[in-house]
Amino acid sequence: MSPKKSATKPRRRATTEAEQTAALERRAAEAKEIVDFVDRTSLAGDEEAVTGEITTVDQHPADTSDITFQRELDLTVRTIAESRLSQVEEALERQRAGTYGICENCGRPIDPERLRARPEATFCIDCQRDQEADTVRH
Ligand SMILES: [Zn+2]
Repeated sequence: MSPKKSATKPRRRATTEAEQTAALERRAAEAKEIVDFVDRTSLAGDEEAVTGEITTVDQHPADTSDITFQRELDLTVRTIAESRLSQVEEALERQRAGTYGICENCGRPIDPERLRARPEATFCIDCQRDQEADTVRH
């Protein structure tokens, strides 16, 4: 048994690894719930709607476009949740490798405040802005 060591105080109130893991797992659970929900509701319902379209003659066209719009919306939400899920997995991976909280682009540490808000963040705020500007341009 080693005596209680007076650990060096972090300069900023950075989150502990256990806190990071908990935060990441919470994010993953949230995202999984969204994916599951969309799978259960939208996609299952859509299959029915597609077969219904063929068999049901008195289907109103308005209903079909509503379904299409709703489905697109659901798929968008699902895509966002899925990409967050893979970001969380990557973050957990990096945590194991000891590179968690380091910007993937510029290699600088990511602001702890930012990590608290978005524990799965892979870029520092500056690089994230560049990325987003890039995405918008496409
Ligand atoms: Zn960066």
